[in-house]
Amino acid sequence: MPSSSSRNCEEIKRELEKIAEEIRVCTRCPLHLNRTNAVPGEGDPCSGVVFIGEAPGQSEDVQGRPFVGSAGQLLTQLLSSNGISRESVFITNVVKCRPPGNREPREEEIKACLPYLRRQLEAIKPRVIITLGRHSTRTVLGMHGRAVNSIMGVRGREFMVEESWGSLVVFPTLHPAAALYNPGMRSSLEDDFKRISRIIKGEETKGQKTLDSFFAKY
Ligand code: URA
Repeated sequence: MPSSSSRNCEEIKRELEKIAEEIRVCTRCPLHLNRTNAVPGEGDPCSGVVFIGEAPGQSEDVQGRPFVGSAGQLLTQLLSSNGISRESVFITNVVKCRPPGNREPREEEIKACLPYLRRQLEAIKPRVIITLGRHSTRTVLGMHGRAVNSIMGVRGREFMVEESWGSLVVFPTLHPAAALYNPGMRSSLEDDFKRISRIIKGEETKGQKTLDSFFAKY
């Protein structure tokens, strides 16, 4: 007989797989016309920690997995150099299909895809969300009525938000691709990931609950 928490974890995984199956056959916006694979997300949904990027690029479209191209390699490295394996967190995007030529996702594409992200978050019930870049930050903080004018104005700050499952921290940072194109941003990103590691490990709590689910496993 599984413990209630492992049973709950199995339920979360089942619900996420159901959502992923819908995403893989989704036709809600024109991005489905050019995709090789939709990219629902991957990782441990039971850690209570979710990283949210913008949209899949070419490598992600080919593999059907998030953050596996050059920005993904930097993300994986930033995580591991701060003692976090990428398998130990859940990684997804606001938009689940690749915009052609890696252009930015359009407002209507974000709007069409948002119900999937909402359902993923409702299933996972995260305690910490890391938003990677402007689109993700604007979308997630926008879901909580906070307008974001500039990613530089909000990055590296903790936002406590209320959800139906409790309060959680939203921590915006730069998109790893930004640091690839603009090496001057690299040190800001590295500073933010040191903070992210402390937040995830409960060393920087600012009143939020320690992530017992994370500690129990990692
Ligand atoms: N950039 C993103 O925002 N997401 C990915 O999955 C890959 C690159």
